[in-house]
Amino acid sequence: MKRVLITGGAGFLGSHLCDRFIKEGYHVIAMDNLITGDIRNIEHLFHLPTFEFYHHDVSKFIHVSGDLDYILHFASPASPIDYLKIPIQTLKVGSLGIHNCLGLARVKNARVLIASTSEVYGDPAVHPQNEDYWGNVNPVGPRGVYDEAKRFQEAITMAYHTYHGLETRIVRIFNTYGPRMRLNDGRVLPAFIGQALRGEDLTVFGDGSQTRSFCYVDDLVEGIYRLLLSDYAYPVNIGNPGEITIREFGEEIIKLTGTKQKLIVKPLPTDDPKQRRPDITRAQQILGWEPKVSRAEGLRITYDYFRSLPEEELYKAAY
Ligand code: NAD
Ligand code: UDP
Repeated sequence: MKRVLITGGAGFLGSHLCDRFIKEGYHVIAMDNLITGDIRNIEHLFHLPTFEFYHHDVSKFIHVSGDLDYILHFASPASPIDYLKIPIQTLKVGSLGIHNCLGLARVKNARVLIASTSEVYGDPAVHPQNEDYWGNVNPVGPRGVYDEAKRFQEAITMAYHTYHGLETRIVRIFNTYGPRMRLNDGRVLPAFIGQALRGEDLTVFGDGSQTRSFCYVDDLVEGIYRLLLSDYAYPVNIGNPGEITIREFGEEIIKLTGTKQKLIVKPLPTDDPKQRRPDITRAQQILGWEPKVSRAEGLRITYDYFRSLPEEELYKAAY
């Protein structure tokens, strides 16, 4: 039985990856310090003999007993309000955390896949973004703590590949959504749906003309699974090229939820990227992958999930 370590395994994406690898017949070890994650995301796996949970900060030395075939490094605060609240931890998990994972991978002779991000392109001057674009990141702006941690993470991962011959994979993830996002993580989809459910107006930052491209979580997980098992070591974008302005997105959420509330304008955060859409040619060619779930379908599933939560979840603070 293959054994996989998933850091950030109690988070939104990490927990879906745990589910997928369990389904594929792997022994799964989830490692998480729960700083932005939630143990409830993986509680349903606790009874399985093929699932283990380590409560651990991966920025500190990692010890795992037994063999490992794969390490997926997903630990990191991921939403702007999270990484702005805990900027140093964000830099540490993207640097010390991946260094620990790479060292562990050498000892175990495991393959490493890292969760990189469309944020490595910063506020992109090339549109749509392909993997050969080097990006436009402000290293000393507020988002720099996340963007530069992820850029460093790519660099050190590639260095271990080049200099130590380690098997590595790099996925650049574009905005992904689905069940198990935290209603209060500040990202636009949970923000809008939470506001609609609480009967508040939906807060559009800036004039709402900035664009994003939203990928449903099952599509992302499929792309990651294929990339891990491929032999391709360079970065691969995984995302849904369906691009929409944030204002139009707000209108879609108003329609979906049937709320009587309206869109209101709030200040645009510093360095907020103006446009973002993945060029997925590489994923199509190398992995035979493209997204299957339409935004309408994915949003419906995600809305049903948020509606099913106990009411107190709607009013919880971020931490
Ligand atoms: P999340 O906050 O739900 O999950 C991150 C998990 O990492 C949490 O469970 C958190 O507790 C854990 N964690 C953070 N620091 C840790 C540490 N030092 N030690 C151990 N665990 C730690 O966020 P997510 O959306 O699931 O993102 C997961 C990964 O995917 C992140 O690396 C993120 O940068 C990347 N990513 C996500 C998206 C997206 O749209 N969701 C886009 C691009 C990249
Ligand atoms: N946004 C918004 N209202 C909100 C939260 C976010 O208009 O309540 C905007 C935000 O400024 C950005 C876009 O939605 O332009 C996506 O933000 P998110 O934090 O989800 O992701 P990221 O900026 O990291 O892509």
